Amino acid sequence: VSVRVAPLGAQLVLVLVEDRTEARRVDAVRRDFVANVSHELKTPVGALSLLAEAVLSASDDPDAVRRFASRMQKEAHRLTNLVQDLIDLSRVQIDAPLSASAEKVRVAEVVADALGRSYEAAGARRIELVADAEEDVVVRGDRTQLAAALGNLVENAVNYSPDETRVAVTVKRSGDRVEIAVTDQGIGIPERDLERIFERFYRVDPARSRATGGTGLGLSIVKHIAATHGGEVAVWSSEGSGSTFTLKLPV
Ligand code: ADP
Repeated sequence: VSVRVAPLGAQLVLVLVEDRTEARRVDAVRRDFVANVSHELKTPVGALSLLAEAVLSASDDPDAVRRFASRMQKEAHRLTNLVQDLIDLSRVQIDAPLSASAEKVRVAEVVADALGRSYEAAGARRIELVADAEEDVVVRGDRTQLAAALGNLVENAVNYSPDETRVAVTVKRSGDRVEIAVTDQGIGIPERDLERIFERFYRVDPARSRATGGTGLGLSIVKHIAATHGGEVAVWSSEGSGSTFTLKLPV
């Protein structure tokens, strides 16, 4: 708390007490975030610089140059993903009311869009993508944001699943809510991590996340988008057998 005391005439004293807990917490979160972002940016940039050096010193060995160049592409791709996620995150964090971009959105279209984004990645690993969405379910919201949120969940389901499994998206109405569930038969999430996976940059297995091009920001973006739409995101998971992420939105 911050306290100020001032005499008010001869008989009275004015005491101002301000609870600064929340402001302190926000400051700490912001500091952490900046430190994390800098660290996440430094890794691919450092790798690019080392790879550029390697290309220079291997200039008369075409095979080596090709190998280094393809690793440079990967690092550049990771940087692009990270910057895009940061842009998405800052967009959904601006507390602008949704009304400006809100429209009637058909959930079946959002599902088709989200699945489309992972179509190639899933196909390459023979992961089957299936959808079961009622045609006429509609929510009010920002179509681009909703597709980004669901797209992130499907992308994760594919990334954290072994080959030849199945990822299913189902849509059902439950009272005044629409529940969009993404279910996979993947590696699952240990119970102790479940609470933390929606935090920015939190990863259960950082090596695996980096290998799949993950940024650690996907689920925090999903959480923000759910909140701006007056909804929430829930997770159920069993280690070794799979996970279900459910986006719950008001009808
Ligand atoms: P990332 O870019 O690392 O995937 P996310 O914020 O999307 O970041 O997810 C945070 C972490 O939660 C991931 O690193 C991963 O450990 C875990 N996770 C997310 N989705 C799944 C899933 N469907 N199955 C297993 N683990 C998951």
